[in-house]
Amino acid sequence: MRPNIKNIAVLTSGGDAPGMNACIRAVVRTGIYNGINMFGVLQGYQGLINNNIIPMDARSVSNIIHLGGTVLKTARCLEFKTDEGMDQAYANMKAHNIDALVVIGGDGTFTGARRFSERHPVSVIGIPGTIDNDLYGSDFTLGYDTAINTVIEAIDKIRDTADSHDRLFFVEVMGRDSGCIALRSAIACGAEAVLLPEKATSLEELIRTLEIGAATKKSSSIVIVSEGHKQGGAYDIAKHVKERFNHYDTKVTILGHLQRGGSPSSFDRILGSRLGYAAVNELLKGSSRQMVGLRGNDIQLTSLDEALTAHSFKLESDLLEMTKVLSI
Ligand code: ADP
Repeated sequence: MRPNIKNIAVLTSGGDAPGMNACIRAVVRTGIYNGINMFGVLQGYQGLINNNIIPMDARSVSNIIHLGGTVLKTARCLEFKTDEGMDQAYANMKAHNIDALVVIGGDGTFTGARRFSERHPVSVIGIPGTIDNDLYGSDFTLGYDTAINTVIEAIDKIRDTADSHDRLFFVEVMGRDSGCIALRSAIACGAEAVLLPEKATSLEELIRTLEIGAATKKSSSIVIVSEGHKQGGAYDIAKHVKERFNHYDTKVTILGHLQRGGSPSSFDRILGSRLGYAAVNELLKGSSRQMVGLRGNDIQLTSLDEALTAHSFKLESDLLEMTKVLSI
């Protein structure tokens, strides 16, 4: 039986990711299609506490599917971690008669959603939106594919100049705890080596790889470094390598926040649409405290508990082995 849900709100929280707008659009329009009153919360949980809640209609999400960032804005909100903050957020939701919440974000956002729904009678569905691809229960998170494409575009340009000058480039990409962006970018760019937070790679091993490349007449080398690599960022690694290996002129590029922006790829637009559509349909079926995610080519539910506790090592080790073989 369909639960008595009449009003649903959607928010984006934590780090923004390309594809969030496609997802917001899908949430709002699926709700309206089903006769639900839809609301948008501005600036994540902070907006719930500050009563920054606006009604949304089908036209309020027109022409946003192709935009990066999030039209609802996002924020990090420490107040939501307190009981008082959660109670204020709930009071504001009640004032708008909002029965259910769709949250788009990463593990912090899901932790907040889980605690909130334990404390107050609110149905919640989480949508994995983060460029880091570090959530259990979805093979791909929203924004990850676009971020990799952005990295690839940048590194292709770096390769042109590296090759012209016989240079060794260390390129730092995002991923404090997750090497997913680094690993897939390494494959797609033909990087000579990749350093990940999940795997200890010794400098000796790295230098050996670079020496073999130089001996077999590689005219340039690119090493992708995850920002969370245990031996330091790209500048640290480059400095250590330069002390012992001076075959090439060595340069460093930090890609930084450009990885978060840009128009979402077709994959992220479609994923965002599918996840948003599924999130509202699940709420209307009575699901709560669940995450909708992509497994294989199916949208499936994972409880927030499982998504949060099973979250951790997601790196595809077979792909790591393959990068070594293909970069000889
Ligand atoms: P992400 O969702 O991208 O992982 P954060 O870790 O910054 O980003 O989390 C986003 C927001 O989720 C935080 O600013 C906070 O409002 C909320 N949040 C995170 N952890 C908790 C928690 N333990 N209890 C309540 N809310 C939390």
